[in-house]
Amino acid sequence: MLGGMQSHEMRVTDILDHAAREATTREIVTYWADGCLQRSNWGEVGSMARQLASKLTQIGWNKADRVGTLAMNHLHHLVTYYGAAGAGGVVHTVNPRLSAEHIIYIVNHAEDRVFFFDAMFRPIIDALKEHMPCVEHFVCFDSDCGGDYMSFAEFIADGDAEFDWVTGSERDPCGLCYTSGTTGNPKGVLYEHRSNVIHAMSLCMPDVFDINARSVMLPIVPIFHANGWGAPYGCAMAGCGMVLSASNDPKVLWKLIREEGVTHSAGVPTVWLGLFGEMDASGGDYGDLRYVVIGGSAAPRAMIERLTQAGIEVGHAWGMTETSPIGTIGARPANWDAMSYEERIDLIQKQGRIPYGVQLRVVDEDGVVQPRDGKSSGHLQIKGVWIVQRYFKAEEDSLTDDGWFDTGDIAVIHPDGVMQITDRDKDIIKSGGEWISSIDLENTVVGCPGVAEAAAIGVPHPKWDERPMLFVVCKADATLTADDITSYLTDKIAKWWMPDEIRFVPELPHTATGKILKRALREQLRVEREGA
Ligand code: AMP
Repeated sequence: MLGGMQSHEMRVTDILDHAAREATTREIVTYWADGCLQRSNWGEVGSMARQLASKLTQIGWNKADRVGTLAMNHLHHLVTYYGAAGAGGVVHTVNPRLSAEHIIYIVNHAEDRVFFFDAMFRPIIDALKEHMPCVEHFVCFDSDCGGDYMSFAEFIADGDAEFDWVTGSERDPCGLCYTSGTTGNPKGVLYEHRSNVIHAMSLCMPDVFDINARSVMLPIVPIFHANGWGAPYGCAMAGCGMVLSASNDPKVLWKLIREEGVTHSAGVPTVWLGLFGEMDASGGDYGDLRYVVIGGSAAPRAMIERLTQAGIEVGHAWGMTETSPIGTIGARPANWDAMSYEERIDLIQKQGRIPYGVQLRVVDEDGVVQPRDGKSSGHLQIKGVWIVQRYFKAEEDSLTDDGWFDTGDIAVIHPDGVMQITDRDKDIIKSGGEWISSIDLENTVVGCPGVAEAAAIGVPHPKWDERPMLFVVCKADATLTADDITSYLTDKIAKWWMPDEIRFVPELPHTATGKILKRALREQLRVEREGA
């Protein structure tokens, strides 16, 4: 027997319809890369998204076809989130900081048919487009980027602003994001209408992003990252205002926060450090800012303290591209008022509590579930409606036999339900919120004549959270210097992948199966720097 309620598929386009109807004039402000400020609103986002969906249909859009983007945060990128979904398609956000090789792989693997890009990324498109035969139209988001490229405004000009969305199942895909940290090729996470709608509802909860109709959200996190942390959907659902900046210049962000009445913001720790530098230099208060989400990497204590002392609530969040991305967030527990200042900071420094919609557990090496005692650390596993089951085009699910996704993080869960990341099992380095593949780095170094073996690990860094450090074992008859390694790597890796320190060692620690024991190297370094 079915229940007696109306049948309605949950689609992200409903979220936009709601915002366009109920929060029509709520402002969406864009600071464009050329310094222009544009004021739009949810009503206009609704019409433009319909124009885009209509245009895509005119060029023969099939269900689940992909629109790629290489872009920062701005109105047109937001419109594309909805316009692609409204044509029955998928918005595929590509991270411009990836290597050329990865961008080419991702675009071809996704089979993007239309590709929108910012003028600032035109050199990437000019250089790579001949390697992307699947793309039928390259379109520039900005009004003028030169060359023969059509602009976004021209592209959607003959689209119908009253277009009826393409409808379908709530389990249809609507978003795609590749995660490229570990070994092998990047893997695509295909978000669904239903998972994004429920994730957005979660964002609006006071214990998650705490956004409502009175909020103004400035997502500093680029919306090409992990579903834009859900902000494009959550903000429309709450009917809140948005401030989008195509520039990450701390001067610009600080000005926008103060002049546009920003109440909420979200970003990785590194951008907050940049903002602190700007605040120190130019002074002034935080305007209306009252809630800041810090995630993507562990939030440093000093950062939490600085914001807390200024009366700003910090939501320290943990998540992954595979988790849409919210996994935990440091909401205030029931006994918050009774806690001392130090206890509160201790709590926020951990990765937070588990919102409705996801479940977490910690298991040991044999898969035995560990108690929530704050001591038993192990592999962090997650399940829920907005957690990946199978990577895009993969032939098998990426779950344990009993249906959990292993995050590659090592954690403990405390008796009060707070999760704390203690280490990382996966072999990657996260610097300024972006991944450096230690395996790729090691494989490249091993190509250097005279190198026998190499290991790259992430070491804590005050600004970038982690920076790569390289351990090198030389071949018996070889003598190498750090400069030899650096010059060898110079034209083979991105500049920001260059290890901050290169150390020559006689041998590296290995596991029984011959894998380099990175945890032992990290521990050795920790003892060296902090003492036992
Ligand atoms: P990504 O898929 O690029 O969003 O990266 C997800 C990974 O970033 C997680 O598996 C963690 O290793 C790391 N991460 C994210 N948030 C945090 C946090 N608050 N504290 C520590 N590590 C984090």
